[in-house]
Amino acid sequence: METEKTQEENAGDFISEFIKTDLETGRFSSVRTRFPPEPNGWLHIGHCKAMAIDFSMAAKFGGLCNLRFDDTNPEKEDVSYVNAIKRDIKWLGFDWGDREFYASDYYEYLYDIAVKIIKKGAAYVDDLSEEEIRLYRGTAEASRKREITETPPGKNSPYRERSVEENLDLFSRMRAGEFADGAKTLRAKIDMTHPNLVMRDPVMYRIRREAHYRTGASWCIYPMYDFQHPLSDAKEGVTHSLCSLEYEIHRPLYEWFINIADVFKSRQIEFARLNLTHTVLSKRWLLRLVAEKLVCGWDDPRMPTIAGLRRRGYTPGSLREFMSRIGVAKTDSLVDIALLEYCLREELNKNAFRVMAVLNPVKLIIENWDEAAIEDLEAVNNPEDSSFGVRKIRFGRELWIEREDFAENPPPKYFRLFPGSSVRLRYGYIVTCTGFDKNADGSVSAVRCVYDPETRGGNAADNRKVRGTIHWLFVKDALPIEVRVYDYLFSPEKAMEVPEGGNFLDNLNPNSLKKIEGAYGEPCLKNALPMDSENGTPVRYQFERQGYFVRDKDAGTDGRPVFNKTIGLRDTWAKIQKK
Ligand code: ATP
Ligand code: MG
Repeated sequence: METEKTQEENAGDFISEFIKTDLETGRFSSVRTRFPPEPNGWLHIGHCKAMAIDFSMAAKFGGLCNLRFDDTNPEKEDVSYVNAIKRDIKWLGFDWGDREFYASDYYEYLYDIAVKIIKKGAAYVDDLSEEEIRLYRGTAEASRKREITETPPGKNSPYRERSVEENLDLFSRMRAGEFADGAKTLRAKIDMTHPNLVMRDPVMYRIRREAHYRTGASWCIYPMYDFQHPLSDAKEGVTHSLCSLEYEIHRPLYEWFINIADVFKSRQIEFARLNLTHTVLSKRWLLRLVAEKLVCGWDDPRMPTIAGLRRRGYTPGSLREFMSRIGVAKTDSLVDIALLEYCLREELNKNAFRVMAVLNPVKLIIENWDEAAIEDLEAVNNPEDSSFGVRKIRFGRELWIEREDFAENPPPKYFRLFPGSSVRLRYGYIVTCTGFDKNADGSVSAVRCVYDPETRGGNAADNRKVRGTIHWLFVKDALPIEVRVYDYLFSPEKAMEVPEGGNFLDNLNPNSLKKIEGAYGEPCLKNALPMDSENGTPVRYQFERQGYFVRDKDAGTDGRPVFNKTIGLRDTWAKIQKK
C-alpha cells in the first residue's frame, strides 16, 4: 500500500498529467479549479474526495480553488445548506479565501449568453411538454448506462425552425412571465440524431414560478445545469473543471456551450466517484433518511455526512489521509469502509487521551482495604506520547468493574476474575477473587476480593505475574454517563443493491444504534467538550479496552454527558490486508 505519498502527490496523477500538458502547451498559463456543491443537502464523504482533488490540484500547480454554489434549482435549495456546507469545508481545512461564488449571481450573464446563442440561430423556444421532449428525444437507456452508444435517432420538434426574431421575442416573454410553468422551454439546437442523447437539443431554460433562496421572485425562468455549469466555469476563468464520472457523457455538451458562447475555454476532466461499503452516498437518499426521521438529522453520527462523521469523532486528518490512500482513479470502485476506519484508528491511537470507563458496571469490594482509606494512583494519559503527561486517579475499597470481567463459571482461557483467580487492576494492585454476592434474581450484585499491598502499579518490586489486567473506577468518583454505540447504518456491503421490488430502506440495519444508560467514566470526563464546540478543541478519548469516544452535544437522562463511540480498538483492515 502507498503510505509515503503526500496527498498532493497522490491526488489524481492522470489529472496532473493533463494539467501539466496544458501548462506546457500554453493552453493555460495558470490553474484555477472550483468546488461546486449544490446547496440542496449537507456534504458527504464523497464530496470530501471531490474537494481533496479540486483543492490539491490547484495547490500543486500554484493555482487557486473557488467555492461556487451551483444554485440554480429553486425547489430544493436553501441557505441553511449553504451555511452547513461552508462550515464543513472549513472544518476539513480547505480554504477558498474570498472566492465564494454563486451561480445564482450569474443569472443576468447567463440570460445574455442565451440571447447570444439564439441570435446565432443555435437555440429555440419549444412548446413541447417535458414528457413530449423526452419522447421525441428517444430512449433513455444509453444515458442510464452512461455510455455513448448508438440509439435510434430522435425526432425534431415542430417548433425547431422558429425564426431568430420569434425566438428572441418568445424568450424575453418567458422571462417576463407571460407563459405558464412548463408551457415553453429554451433548447439548444444541436442534433436530434446525435448518438449521445445529451446532445439531442438539451433544455437550457425552463419556466418555474418558485422563489429562490437568494434571488427571491425576480426570476421565473431558471437555467439548467448543463447550460449553467460550463458558463459559470468560464465566467470564473476555471481552467480545469474536475467532476465525477457521471458527467463524462455531458462533456461534449460542456464544450459545445463554451464554443457557441465563445467564452473562456475551461476544460472538464472526470474522475471516479467514491463509493463506500455499507454506505449510501447521494444527497437524495441521505435527505430521505433525514426527512423520514430514520436518523436524528444530517449530523446523526451514523450518517456519512461530514457533519455526521465529525460528531462521531472523525478527524479532518483521518479523512484527508483516507482520500490520499484511495487516490484518484478513472473507473468507479467500491472502497471498503474498513480502510477509512483504519485511517481514523491510526490517528486516534496517537492522539487520544486514555481514560477508564465502565459500560456495564458491577461492584468490586476489596475486603482487606480499610473503608476510610483513599489512595492516589498515577495513570498515563497516552502511552504513545509522553507529552500528554500523567493524571492522578483515586483508589478505594469499592470499585466499579465491567460485569463481563467476572465469571462465576469461567470458560476456558478466561483470564479475568473468577473465584480464586488474580488480575491486575490497571495502574493499581493485583487482586484475588474471594467470592461474590447475588441478587434475589440470581444475578451477581458484587464481586469480592483481597488485594496484595506489595503489587502497587509501577512498583519496581512488583514481579508477580498475572494474565489479565482489567479497568475499574472508584465508586465515590465515578461520573454517570450515557454511551452510544454505533454499527453500520446499512447491513449489506452494497447498501444500494436491493432485490427486485425492494427499496434501499430495506437494507437499513435495525441495530445501528445502541444506547447504554448506566455507564460510568472517570470524573475528568465531566469537562469534555462536545465535537461541534466552538470554544476550544474537543478531546478525543480512548476508553481503555473499549474503543475511542467523543462527547456528544446532546445531554442524556438527568443531564448526563453522552459519549459517542467513534470506533472500536480492533483493526479489521489489517486483517483484510493479510488475507
Ligand atoms: P449527490 O449525488 O450526493 O447529490 P452531487 O454530485 O449531485 O452528489 P453536488 O453538490 O452537485 O452533488 O456535488 C459537488 C461536487 O462533488 C461535484 O463536482 C460532484 O462531482 C462531486 N461529488 C459528489 N458525490 C461524489 C462522490 N461520491 N465521489 C466523488 N465526488 C463526488
Ligand atoms: Mg449534482
